Amino acid sequence: RHISDLLKTGEPTFSFEFFPPKTAEGQQKLWQVIRELEALSPSFVSVTYGAGGGTRDHTVEITERLATDTTLLPVAHTTAVNHSVAELRHLIGRFADAGVSNMLALRGDPPGDPLGEWVKHPEGLEYASELVELIKQSGDFSVGVAAFPFKHPRSASVEEDVDFLIHKFDSGADFAITQMFFDAEDYLRLRDRVAARGRDVPIIPELMPVVKYSTIEMSEKLSGAPFPAHLAEEFEKVKDDPKAVRELGMDQAQRLCERLLDEGAPGIHFITFNQATATRELYERVAGYRVPAMAGARP
Ligand code: FAD
Repeated sequence: RHISDLLKTGEPTFSFEFFPPKTAEGQQKLWQVIRELEALSPSFVSVTYGAGGGTRDHTVEITERLATDTTLLPVAHTTAVNHSVAELRHLIGRFADAGVSNMLALRGDPPGDPLGEWVKHPEGLEYASELVELIKQSGDFSVGVAAFPFKHPRSASVEEDVDFLIHKFDSGADFAITQMFFDAEDYLRLRDRVAARGRDVPIIPELMPVVKYSTIEMSEKLSGAPFPAHLAEEFEKVKDDPKAVRELGMDQAQRLCERLLDEGAPGIHFITFNQATATRELYERVAGYRVPAMAGARP
Protein backbone atom coordinates (compact mmCIF):
# COMPACT_ATOMS: atom_id res chain seq x y z
CA ARG A 1 0.00 0.00 0.00
CA HIS A 2 1.21 3.44 -0.91
CA ILE A 3 0.59 6.51 1.24
CA SER A 4 -0.15 8.39 -1.97
CA ASP A 5 -3.09 6.01 -2.63
CA LEU A 6 -4.40 6.39 0.92
CA LEU A 7 -4.30 10.15 0.49
CA LYS A 8 -6.33 9.91 -2.72
CA THR A 9 -9.30 8.32 -0.95
CA GLY A 10 -10.23 11.68 0.59
CA GLU A 11 -10.53 10.11 4.07
CA PRO A 12 -8.17 11.78 6.57
CA THR A 13 -5.17 9.70 7.56
CA PHE A 14 -4.19 9.37 11.22
CA SER A 15 -0.60 8.29 11.75
CA PHE A 16 2.06 8.01 14.43
CA GLU A 17 5.77 8.78 14.52
CA PHE A 18 8.29 6.81 16.62
CA PHE A 19 12.01 7.23 17.17
CA PRO A 20 14.66 4.48 17.52
CA PRO A 21 15.54 4.08 21.23
CA LYS A 22 19.20 3.81 22.23
CA THR A 23 18.79 1.18 24.97
CA ALA A 24 17.41 -2.37 25.12
CA GLU A 25 14.93 -1.12 27.73
CA GLY A 26 13.80 1.64 25.40
CA GLN A 27 13.36 -0.90 22.59
CA GLN A 28 11.22 -3.12 24.77
CA LYS A 29 9.08 -0.16 25.84
CA LEU A 30 8.72 0.94 22.20
CA TRP A 31 7.34 -2.43 21.21
CA GLN A 32 4.78 -2.28 24.03
CA VAL A 33 3.74 1.14 22.76
CA ILE A 34 3.61 -0.08 19.16
CA ARG A 35 1.42 -3.03 20.14
CA GLU A 36 -0.89 -0.76 22.13
CA LEU A 37 -1.23 1.76 19.32
CA GLU A 38 -1.57 -0.96 16.67
CA ALA A 39 -5.00 -1.66 18.18
CA LEU A 40 -6.09 1.81 17.01
CA SER A 41 -5.45 0.84 13.35
CA PRO A 42 -3.63 4.04 12.33
CA SER A 43 -3.29 4.72 8.60
CA PHE A 44 0.50 4.44 8.83
CA VAL A 45 3.38 4.78 11.27
CA SER A 46 6.84 6.25 10.71
CA VAL A 47 10.22 5.71 12.33
CA THR A 48 12.77 8.52 12.38
CA TYR A 49 16.32 7.95 11.15
CA GLY A 50 19.10 8.47 13.69
CA ALA A 51 22.07 10.76 13.26
CA GLY A 52 24.51 7.88 13.11
CA GLY A 53 25.69 4.37 13.96
CA GLY A 54 23.60 2.19 16.24
CA THR A 55 20.34 4.09 16.17
CA ARG A 56 20.35 3.92 12.37
CA ASP A 57 20.49 0.14 12.53
CA HIS A 58 17.63 0.26 15.03
CA THR A 59 15.57 2.37 12.62
CA VAL A 60 16.05 -0.23 9.92
CA GLU A 61 15.32 -3.17 12.25
CA ILE A 62 12.21 -1.54 13.73
CA THR A 63 10.89 -0.58 10.29
CA GLU A 64 11.54 -4.07 8.91
CA ARG A 65 9.81 -5.66 11.89
CA LEU A 66 6.85 -3.28 11.54
CA ALA A 67 6.51 -4.42 7.93
CA THR A 68 6.80 -8.14 8.62
CA ASP A 69 5.39 -8.73 12.13
CA THR A 70 2.57 -6.20 12.52
CA THR A 71 -0.53 -5.07 10.68
CA LEU A 72 0.89 -1.53 10.50
CA LEU A 73 1.99 0.30 7.36
CA PRO A 74 5.51 1.66 7.98
CA VAL A 75 7.12 4.73 6.48
CA ALA A 76 10.93 4.66 6.70
CA HIS A 77 12.64 8.01 7.31
CA THR A 78 16.03 8.15 5.59
CA THR A 79 18.63 10.91 5.49
CA ALA A 80 21.61 11.73 3.30
CA VAL A 81 23.89 12.37 6.31
CA ASN A 82 27.20 10.48 6.08
CA HIS A 83 25.95 8.13 3.39
CA SER A 84 27.40 7.50 -0.05
CA VAL A 85 24.92 6.93 -2.85
CA ALA A 86 25.95 3.24 -2.83
CA GLU A 87 25.04 2.97 0.88
CA LEU A 88 21.74 4.72 0.28
CA ARG A 89 20.93 2.31 -2.56
CA HIS A 90 21.71 -0.60 -0.22
CA LEU A 91 19.49 0.87 2.50
CA ILE A 92 16.62 1.45 0.10
CA GLY A 93 17.06 -2.14 -1.15
CA ARG A 94 16.83 -3.48 2.40
CA PHE A 95 13.57 -1.63 2.95
CA ALA A 96 12.20 -2.89 -0.35
CA ASP A 97 13.16 -6.48 0.55
CA ALA A 98 11.22 -6.17 3.81
CA GLY A 99 8.16 -4.98 1.90
CA VAL A 100 8.48 -1.32 2.91
CA SER A 101 7.08 0.78 0.08
CA ASN A 102 6.84 4.22 1.69
CA MET A 103 9.75 6.46 2.59
CA LEU A 104 10.33 9.97 3.90
CA ALA A 105 13.34 11.45 2.09
CA LEU A 106 15.31 13.92 4.20
CA ARG A 107 18.65 15.57 3.99
CA GLY A 108 19.15 15.36 7.77
CA ASP A 109 21.28 17.62 9.94
CA PRO A 110 25.00 17.53 10.68
CA PRO A 111 25.55 15.22 13.69
CA GLY A 112 26.01 17.14 16.94
CA ASP A 113 24.92 20.65 16.04
CA PRO A 114 21.88 20.73 13.72
CA LEU A 115 22.83 24.21 12.58
CA GLY A 116 26.52 23.40 12.17
CA GLU A 117 28.22 23.32 8.78
CA TRP A 118 26.62 20.83 6.41
CA VAL A 119 29.28 18.70 4.74
CA LYS A 120 28.08 16.43 2.00
CA HIS A 121 29.50 12.89 1.92
CA PRO A 122 32.11 12.90 -0.91
CA GLU A 123 30.08 10.29 -2.79
CA GLY A 124 26.74 11.33 -1.34
CA LEU A 125 23.88 13.74 -1.94
CA GLU A 126 23.50 17.43 -1.25
CA TYR A 127 19.74 17.90 -0.96
CA ALA A 128 16.65 15.91 -0.05
CA SER A 129 15.35 16.43 -3.61
CA GLU A 130 18.20 14.21 -4.88
CA LEU A 131 17.24 11.53 -2.37
CA VAL A 132 13.65 11.67 -3.64
CA GLU A 133 14.95 11.02 -7.15
CA LEU A 134 17.21 8.19 -6.00
CA ILE A 135 14.39 6.42 -4.12
CA LYS A 136 12.00 6.85 -7.02
CA GLN A 137 14.55 5.35 -9.43
CA SER A 138 15.18 2.44 -7.03
CA GLY A 139 11.71 0.93 -6.94
CA ASP A 140 8.00 1.32 -6.51
CA PHE A 141 7.98 3.70 -3.54
CA SER A 142 5.67 6.44 -2.41
CA VAL A 143 7.99 9.18 -1.17
CA GLY A 144 7.34 11.99 1.29
CA VAL A 145 9.44 15.04 2.18
CA ALA A 146 9.73 17.53 5.03
CA ALA A 147 7.88 20.87 4.90
CA PHE A 148 8.46 23.80 7.24
CA PRO A 149 5.58 26.14 8.23
CA PHE A 150 8.08 28.74 9.51
CA LYS A 151 10.82 28.05 6.88
CA HIS A 152 13.91 25.94 7.37
CA PRO A 153 16.55 27.79 9.42
CA ARG A 154 18.99 27.56 6.49
CA SER A 155 16.56 29.11 3.99
CA ALA A 156 17.01 32.85 3.51
CA SER A 157 13.28 33.59 3.32
CA VAL A 158 9.88 31.93 3.43
CA GLU A 159 9.60 32.38 -0.35
CA GLU A 160 12.93 30.64 -0.97
CA ASP A 161 11.91 27.87 1.40
CA VAL A 162 8.74 27.24 -0.61
CA ASP A 163 10.80 27.19 -3.83
CA PHE A 164 12.86 24.35 -2.36
CA LEU A 165 9.73 22.49 -1.25
CA ILE A 166 8.27 22.85 -4.73
CA HIS A 167 11.54 21.51 -6.13
CA LYS A 168 11.15 18.42 -3.92
CA PHE A 169 7.61 17.95 -5.25
CA ASP A 170 8.82 18.36 -8.82
CA SER A 171 11.57 15.79 -8.12
CA GLY A 172 8.81 13.25 -7.52
CA ALA A 173 7.66 13.59 -3.90
CA ASP A 174 4.11 12.35 -3.43
CA PHE A 175 3.37 14.03 -0.11
CA ALA A 176 4.95 16.14 2.62
CA ILE A 177 4.87 16.02 6.39
CA THR A 178 5.36 19.30 8.24
CA GLN A 179 7.58 20.20 11.12
CA MET A 180 5.36 20.39 14.20
CA PHE A 181 3.47 23.58 15.02
CA PHE A 182 0.75 24.71 17.44
CA ASP A 183 -1.33 27.23 15.47
CA ALA A 184 -3.39 26.13 12.45
CA GLU A 185 -2.76 29.48 10.73
CA ASP A 186 0.91 28.60 10.32
CA TYR A 187 0.00 25.42 8.43
CA LEU A 188 -2.64 27.20 6.34
CA ARG A 189 -0.19 29.91 5.28
CA LEU A 190 2.29 27.25 4.12
CA ARG A 191 -0.44 25.46 2.20
CA ASP A 192 -1.53 28.73 0.57
CA ARG A 193 2.05 29.47 -0.52
CA VAL A 194 2.28 26.04 -2.15
CA ALA A 195 -1.15 26.41 -3.77
CA ALA A 196 -0.12 29.83 -5.11
CA ARG A 197 2.68 28.01 -6.99
CA GLY A 198 0.07 25.73 -8.56
CA ARG A 199 0.91 22.51 -6.70
CA ASP A 200 -1.61 20.39 -4.82
CA VAL A 201 0.65 17.74 -3.28
CA PRO A 202 -0.88 16.67 0.07
CA ILE A 203 0.85 18.25 3.07
CA ILE A 204 0.20 16.30 6.27
CA PRO A 205 0.43 18.39 9.44
CA GLU A 206 2.51 16.96 12.26
CA LEU A 207 1.78 17.83 15.86
CA MET A 208 1.84 16.76 19.48
CA PRO A 209 -0.14 17.87 22.51
CA VAL A 210 1.47 19.92 25.27
CA VAL A 211 1.37 17.59 28.27
CA LYS A 212 3.92 19.44 30.41
CA TYR A 213 4.65 23.13 30.81
CA SER A 214 8.28 22.49 29.81
CA THR A 215 7.12 21.64 26.25
CA ILE A 216 6.24 25.32 25.79
CA GLU A 217 9.78 26.30 26.69
CA MET A 218 11.11 23.70 24.20
CA SER A 219 8.73 24.87 21.49
CA GLU A 220 11.22 26.88 19.49
CA LYS A 221 13.62 23.93 19.30
CA LEU A 222 10.85 21.55 18.28
CA SER A 223 8.84 23.72 15.92
CA GLY A 224 11.26 26.38 14.72
CA ALA A 225 9.18 29.20 16.23
CA PRO A 226 8.27 30.53 19.68
CA PHE A 227 5.11 29.07 21.23
CA PRO A 228 2.14 31.18 20.04
CA ALA A 229 1.55 33.97 22.57
CA HIS A 230 -2.25 33.67 22.61
CA LEU A 231 -2.00 29.96 23.52
CA ALA A 232 0.83 30.55 26.02
CA GLU A 233 -1.44 33.00 27.88
CA GLU A 234 -3.93 30.19 28.57
CA PHE A 235 -1.15 27.99 29.98
CA GLU A 236 0.22 30.83 32.07
CA LYS A 237 -2.99 30.80 34.13
CA VAL A 238 -2.63 27.11 35.09
CA LYS A 239 1.15 26.64 34.95
CA ASP A 240 1.43 25.49 38.59
CA ASP A 241 -1.17 22.76 38.17
CA PRO A 242 0.29 19.90 36.08
CA LYS A 243 -3.11 18.21 35.64
CA ALA A 244 -4.70 21.40 34.38
CA VAL A 245 -1.74 21.99 32.02
CA ARG A 246 -2.19 18.53 30.55
CA GLU A 247 -5.96 18.97 30.15
CA LEU A 248 -5.50 22.34 28.46
CA GLY A 249 -2.79 20.88 26.21
CA MET A 250 -5.11 18.08 25.13
CA ASP A 251 -7.99 20.52 24.53
CA GLN A 252 -5.78 22.85 22.47
CA ALA A 253 -4.39 19.93 20.43
CA GLN A 254 -7.91 18.63 19.82
CA ARG A 255 -9.06 22.08 18.65
CA LEU A 256 -6.00 22.29 16.39
CA CYS A 257 -6.73 18.88 14.82
CA GLU A 258 -10.39 19.74 14.28
CA ARG A 259 -9.56 23.08 12.67
CA LEU A 260 -7.00 21.42 10.39
CA LEU A 261 -9.49 18.75 9.34
CA ASP A 262 -12.20 21.40 8.80
CA GLU A 263 -9.74 23.21 6.55
CA GLY A 264 -9.19 20.06 4.49
CA ALA A 265 -5.84 18.87 5.85
CA PRO A 266 -5.25 15.39 4.40
CA GLY A 267 -4.61 13.84 7.82
CA ILE A 268 -2.74 14.28 11.09
CA HIS A 269 0.67 12.84 11.93
CA PHE A 270 1.10 12.53 15.71
CA ILE A 271 4.55 12.70 17.30
CA THR A 272 4.38 10.00 19.98
CA PHE A 273 7.79 10.38 21.69
CA ASN A 274 7.34 6.61 22.03
CA GLN A 275 4.56 7.12 24.59
CA ALA A 276 1.12 5.62 24.12
CA THR A 277 -1.09 7.44 26.64
CA ALA A 278 -1.25 10.99 25.27
CA THR A 279 -1.23 9.76 21.65
CA ARG A 280 -4.07 7.33 22.31
CA GLU A 281 -6.12 9.99 24.13
CA LEU A 282 -5.72 12.59 21.40
CA TYR A 283 -6.35 10.02 18.67
CA GLU A 284 -9.54 8.91 20.41
CA ARG A 285 -10.70 12.51 20.69
CA VAL A 286 -10.19 13.29 17.00
CA ALA A 287 -10.21 10.10 14.90
CA GLY A 288 -13.99 10.00 14.96
CA TYR A 289 -14.23 13.70 14.12
CA ARG A 290 -15.99 14.30 10.88
CA VAL A 291 -15.83 17.55 9.03
CA PRO A 292 -19.24 19.23 9.33
CA ALA A 293 -21.14 19.02 6.04
CA MET A 294 -20.92 22.24 4.07
CA ALA A 295 -24.18 24.12 3.69
CA GLY A 296 -25.78 22.97 0.48
CA ALA A 297 -23.43 20.04 0.06
CA ARG A 298 -24.91 16.70 -0.92
CA PRO A 299 -25.21 14.30 2.05
P1 FAD B 1 16.42 19.91 2.11
O1 FAD B 1 15.02 19.95 1.55
O2 FAD B 1 17.47 19.29 1.32
O3 FAD B 1 16.79 21.29 2.65
C1 FAD B 1 17.99 21.51 3.40
C2 FAD B 1 18.43 22.95 3.28
O4 FAD B 1 18.88 23.20 1.97
C3 FAD B 1 17.30 23.96 3.53
O5 FAD B 1 17.84 25.11 4.12
C4 FAD B 1 16.82 24.29 2.15
O6 FAD B 1 16.29 25.57 2.17
C5 FAD B 1 18.12 24.20 1.35
N1 FAD B 1 17.90 23.75 -0.03
C6 FAD B 1 17.11 22.76 -0.44
N2 FAD B 1 17.19 22.59 -1.77
C7 FAD B 1 18.08 23.50 -2.21
C8 FAD B 1 18.62 23.85 -3.50
N3 FAD B 1 18.21 23.21 -4.60
N4 FAD B 1 19.52 24.85 -3.59
C9 FAD B 1 19.93 25.53 -2.49
N5 FAD B 1 19.46 25.25 -1.24
C10 FAD B 1 18.56 24.26 -1.11
N6 FAD B 1 16.09 14.50 10.58
C11 FAD B 1 16.71 13.32 10.83
O7 FAD B 1 17.94 13.30 10.98
N7 FAD B 1 16.02 12.13 10.88
C12 FAD B 1 14.67 12.09 10.70
O8 FAD B 1 14.07 11.02 10.74
C13 FAD B 1 13.98 13.31 10.46
N8 FAD B 1 12.63 13.33 10.26
C14 FAD B 1 11.99 14.50 9.99
C15 FAD B 1 10.61 14.49 9.75
C16 FAD B 1 9.94 15.67 9.47
C17 FAD B 1 8.45 15.62 9.22
C18 FAD B 1 10.64 16.89 9.41
C19 FAD B 1 9.91 18.17 9.13
C20 FAD B 1 12.01 16.93 9.64
C21 FAD B 1 12.70 15.73 9.92
N9 FAD B 1 14.09 15.71 10.14
C22 FAD B 1 14.73 14.52 10.40
C23 FAD B 1 14.87 16.96 10.16
C24 FAD B 1 15.45 17.30 8.78
O9 FAD B 1 16.34 16.30 8.35
C25 FAD B 1 16.18 18.62 8.92
O10 FAD B 1 15.27 19.67 9.18
C26 FAD B 1 17.09 19.01 7.77
O11 FAD B 1 17.87 20.15 8.14
C27 FAD B 1 16.37 19.42 6.50
O12 FAD B 1 15.98 18.33 5.83
P2 FAD B 1 15.20 18.48 4.43
O13 FAD B 1 14.88 17.09 4.06
O14 FAD B 1 14.12 19.46 4.53
O15 FAD B 1 16.38 19.05 3.50
